[in-house]
Amino acid sequence: MAVDFSKYIANIPDFPNKGIIFRDITPILQDGKLYRAATHELAEYAKKRGADVIVGPEARGFIVGCPVATELGIGFVPARKPHKLPRETESASYDLEYGSNVLEMHKDAIKPGQKVVICDDLMATAGTLHATKELVENLGGKVVGAAFYIELVDLKGREKFPDTNIYSLVQYH
Ligand code: AMP
Repeated sequence: MAVDFSKYIANIPDFPNKGIIFRDITPILQDGKLYRAATHELAEYAKKRGADVIVGPEARGFIVGCPVATELGIGFVPARKPHKLPRETESASYDLEYGSNVLEMHKDAIKPGQKVVICDDLMATAGTLHATKELVENLGGKVVGAAFYIELVDLKGREKFPDTNIYSLVQYH
């Protein structure tokens, strides 16, 4: 039977800023069976999309994306905050629901034509997805899908990417 992951997401009002309801996935991570079940759902999706590689934005994209990559036996590429990666990087800026930032990837992280599924904990405004997708495409990869534990539907992130297949385990309105 499909797991109702929403039961295991903690909802914290006014964190980190007033008016934001923070959706906390750590109760899922703390439970090995749930973490594995969530990973498995995303891995099945990435497999169906034909992913050659998983890309995850720092930091929760690492937590979500790395086990998906290992389950499928494919590579994982981190999209990191500035000045963390030691070699030549490509960078893209993005806006968050609360703030803005820059993401970087190593220039040789994606081989031309590789099919990428982007994994992260949550899609809000989809600024992070936008920047991650831009990085992948600038390096010659093709984003064949994006998978999240959580989607904040009312922020309409999905509508910004009519040509990108997007999957989420739990949706909030
Ligand atoms: P966005 O770029 O607007 O789609 O924001 C997505 C990123 O910001 C995700 O990687 C989340 O980790 C974080 N984030 C944004 N809004 C929330 C929220 N309401 N609860 C928890 N994390 C959030």
